[in-house]
Amino acid sequence: MAPTAGGVAQHRSPLGRACVDPSSGTVLAVDIGGTKMAAAVVDGTASILVEQQVPTPQGGGPEVLLAALTGVIHDVMAQAPVPPDVCGVGCGGPMTRGGETVSPLNIPGWRGFELRRRLAEATGIPVAVDNDAKALALGEGWAGAARGQENFLAMVVSTGVGGGIVLGGELLDGQGGNAGHVGHVIVEPDGRRCACGGRGCLEAEASGPSIAAAIGRSPADAPDVIKERTGTLVGRAVASVVNLLDLPLVVVAGSVALGFGAPFFAAAQAEMDARCRLDFARGACIVPAGLGRRGPLIGAAAIGRRLLAGDSRSAT
Ligand SMILES: [Zn+2]
Repeated sequence: MAPTAGGVAQHRSPLGRACVDPSSGTVLAVDIGGTKMAAAVVDGTASILVEQQVPTPQGGGPEVLLAALTGVIHDVMAQAPVPPDVCGVGCGGPMTRGGETVSPLNIPGWRGFELRRRLAEATGIPVAVDNDAKALALGEGWAGAARGQENFLAMVVSTGVGGGIVLGGELLDGQGGNAGHVGHVIVEPDGRRCACGGRGCLEAEASGPSIAAAIGRSPADAPDVIKERTGTLVGRAVASVVNLLDLPLVVVAGSVALGFGAPFFAAAQAEMDARCRLDFARGACIVPAGLGRRGPLIGAAAIGRRLLAGDSRSAT
């Protein structure tokens, strides 16, 4: 187990895992996306103390992107009432395990970029990097709609469809750190081509761009029948995950899901009810994520808090 950062108080949970005192430790949270980069300092109660963001430089090389990111990071560190103990980063994938190198699909200037090492050098504190959807799952479990739950799926239905799975209180990583790619569960075997090379993946049917391509206009103008179909397909994918992993709860974020609202969630729940028929899977619920626009930064903070807990998977 890695040494505890920042002299933060710990205790053992009833299950034997090292836990961080929920009121201790301050985290520099960093959210890296294709359109903006955001940084915040988040305290042990999931409150954002200071926050800033900048547009992601379009067409910039790796050092231009890093300079924009470190600029906003240094600004929030200078404004923080207390210096952060650790840094947690949520970033689009794919990436190698632990975010040692990242190649976000929507940031072409970074291919095999050594993000974790470069941010550790820039900040002088331990840095943990993970997939942004996995970060969201940890954040929702810490302070959102999955608070107190030890077994759940959190997912995003937006420009892409991604997810993170918490099982037995632990975020699943998988062989290469990519566990939770619910966007590539097959929902229509003869459906649309997916960017992954497959066909009929949830992402190829339910992402914002795929809906726009199918209906010829923005998802914001989608009729109820499309909102319901999207909910049904999400419910179908999620039902397979619930049956596979024995999960009572699914939380959903993202502009498509939250924008579609009640028709989407009602259809998703109805499809789950129809397809989760084993005793343990009956009654599983799908609900909107609880953190709203704070989700990405609280999720990044939750990734950083794994360092406070001495999580050996997170490099320091
Ligand atoms: Zn796919």
